[in-house]
Order: sequence, then structure tokens, then C-alpha cells
Amino acid sequence: MPICRTCQGEYARGERQCPRCESDVVAWEKETFLWGIIPGLLPSAAALLMLIFWRRQGPSVHHWMVSLMSIAISLLVFFGLYGTPPAWRNRRWASQVYNAPRPQIIMMIAATFIGGIAMAIASFVLYKTSRPPVEFWQQLIFGAAYAPIYVLFTAAFTLGAIQAHLSHLNKRVPLPLFVDTERLLRVTIKTALQSLNIPDKSDNYKILEVNRIPETGGIKVRLLLPERQAYQPKRHSQAGKQQGGKRCNIEADRWGRVKLVQTKKQETE
Ligand SMILES: [Zn+2]
Repeated sequence: MPICRTCQGEYARGERQCPRCESDVVAWEKETFLWGIIPGLLPSAAALLMLIFWRRQGPSVHHWMVSLMSIAISLLVFFGLYGTPPAWRNRRWASQVYNAPRPQIIMMIAATFIGGIAMAIASFVLYKTSRPPVEFWQQLIFGAAYAPIYVLFTAAFTLGAIQAHLSHLNKRVPLPLFVDTERLLRVTIKTALQSLNIPDKSDNYKILEVNRIPETGGIKVRLLLPERQAYQPKRHSQAGKQQGGKRCNIEADRWGRVKLVQTKKQETE
């Protein structure tokens, strides 16, 4: 089953709205990041083209193994980063809502881009200063500067594309569930009531207290379950003896996944 990107719950294929958080799932389905392939694979393509240049140089400081290695590592970096925009987005929002570290994507783009340029300059200098016949150790030093050029530019360009995609996503798809306390509360209560076999109707509970957990972005809720709900018979049980109302403590994580439901009888005076 597909996973709702807003609340991490499952929904049936073909649905327009997530049954759990009621967000628009079609908006997410329309989004693709296919265009991110172009900047991400550009450095690998450049490394491949540069092989033609090196072949024309005859014996030189470059060894073809270095190009193949840089393409292989660049592709690994690209595929490692390509699927991560939703995770970056969640981390970015998490840092605004609770005590989560802010992802430093801009810093990473700048560092990898500057690193790529530095390595390109170093390689150029090494190439210009090494005249054949070249020693193995010279090729080794050259390779250590040359291969990272493509790897670092792959990281910089892919992260740049992710950064652009994140700005675009914020305008097009719903915010993660944990950003909106009201919606997180609604999902949490719905899930907790389900586990207690209580119909999700507003007159079946009264919210006494709501607190967000600043360390994790989770939520703590205290409910009063009025008398008529407190004796709700369990499934397959006919017991329906009248008792007093109950207090219910609920704790859920930032996606509204309930971790704790504790009910205790309301103390009567
Ligand atoms: Zn959802």
C-alpha cells in the first residue's frame, strides 16, 4: 500500500484523501523529481567525456582507472541522495517545530562546490607540472585530486536540485503532520479511540490538556471519557455495566502513532 507522506500512514491506491490524516494524497502523487537526474548525472557524463580528452593526450599523469572510479563513486553519491527530498523536508520542518537540528543543506552545497573547484585547480596544476614519463606516485597524487572533482560536483549539483525541489514542494503539497498541532491532535485522538473501541465522535470525549513534546515533536493528550463511554463494551463482550467516567492519557509520536493509552477511573467526590 502507498504511504501518505503527510502522516506516514497507509492508504489504498486510487484514494484522493488519506483516511488517517485527511490530507490530499494526489498532490504528492503528482510530484516527481525526475528533472533532478540531469544536474545529478552531469558530472559523471563530464568525466566520461574527459576520457576522450585524456586518450588524446597520450601517456600522461591521468590513468583511465581514475575516471572509472570517479564515475562509480559519483553514481553512488547521486543514487544515495536522489531519493532523499522528503527526508530533507521533514528534517527542515522538524527543526522549526521542535528541538531537532536544522539540516545544513546550503552549507553542504557550498562546501562540496568549493571543494570541487579546489580539486579542479589542484588537478590542473598537477597536470601542467607533470611531464612524461610520469611516475606511478605522480599518477596516484593526481588521481587523489582528480576523482573527487566529479564526486564533489555530483553532491553539490544533486543537493542544489534537492534544495530547489524542496522550495517547490512547500508550495504544492501539505505540510508534515507534526507541523500542525490541531491535525496531529485529531489523528492521535482518532487512533487512541479506535484502540479503546470508542466511536470517534466529539461528544464521546472531552479534551482536558494537550502538550507537545519539545524533544521529539510528539504529543501528550489528556481526555475525559464521559460516563456513557466509560462502559463501552469490549468487542465480543456483552458486558455493559454502568461505571463512572474515565480519564485517558495518550502519548503519540510526531506522526500521531500512539505509543501509550492509559485509562483510569475518574475520581468522584
Ligand atoms: Zn495521511
